[in-house]
Amino acid sequence: MADRDGVIWLDGELIPWRDAKVHVLTHTLHYGMGVFEGVRAYETGSGPAIFRLKEHTDRLFNSAKILSMKVPFDKDQINEAHTTMIRENKLPHAYLRPLVFYGSEAMGLRANGLTVHVAVAAWEWPSYMSPEALELGIKVRTSSYTRHHVNITMCKAKSTGSYMNSMLALNEALSGGADEALLLDNEGYVAEGSGENVFLIRDGVLYTPELTSCLDGITRKTIFQLAEERGYKVREKRLTRDEFYIADEAFFTGTAAEVTPIRELDGRIIGEGKRGPITEELQSVYFDLVRGKSEEHREWLTYP
Ligand code: PMP
Repeated sequence: MADRDGVIWLDGELIPWRDAKVHVLTHTLHYGMGVFEGVRAYETGSGPAIFRLKEHTDRLFNSAKILSMKVPFDKDQINEAHTTMIRENKLPHAYLRPLVFYGSEAMGLRANGLTVHVAVAAWEWPSYMSPEALELGIKVRTSSYTRHHVNITMCKAKSTGSYMNSMLALNEALSGGADEALLLDNEGYVAEGSGENVFLIRDGVLYTPELTSCLDGITRKTIFQLAEERGYKVREKRLTRDEFYIADEAFFTGTAAEVTPIRELDGRIIGEGKRGPITEELQSVYFDLVRGKSEEHREWLTYP
């Protein structure tokens, strides 16, 4: 990742990609106290468009607030950094990564006087799941790792440290032959995937866990709204893993994962064992929208 052409926005300046470095005593590197976003720009008929940039930047600032990190830029500056990255790196489509982190002025948990830095990088990252996954669905295993409890790592913050739990769960799932992990909360109810929110469909109704132990996903919110606009009922409620076993359809949502069908959970085939019809409909509405092919919600697209 470090050895490539292009520029990265770091603290308000454009730095050559290979020179965008930090010191090894960078505080966030040691204690995982930092916040970030995963944002995506899609190729549209009118050039690249960033999907729901405002919502991602709002969540970034909320995450920083939860961790009491003061971002030394305003939201307009951060939004502008995103559009600049697309333009300067001449990207037709991109994954964008804003990161807010502490500097290297001091070490230890009691460190004070730490500066807060912000970086925004962008690169072409076509598919997170394999292209077949979007069509055929993926195999998921319930994780032996519990998802964060609200009083351990606050779940409304997309914080760097919270992804250790995600990586442990994902690596366990992958090494067990699955494609993704499903994490339960500390009471045993379904929370989310390692980097996705999750939905099930039963008798034409969509269900998704309440936000207690999962991230307030922007794709979740998008699918929620798009489904309701098409007349589907969407319910937020506590869900158990066996409700997924007997669901008609299930899928993950996320900026990287987009709308990924789940065909199997813990060796149980879900529905027909392939992408279900409602999942397919919502997936296609989502793709048309992010790719600027739809007249709906054009306000969600930012053209750099
Ligand atoms: N949960 C977790 C743990 C995530 O990392 C992500 C990806 N940001 C999501 C859910 C989905 O959020 P979004 O739709 O905003 O990408």
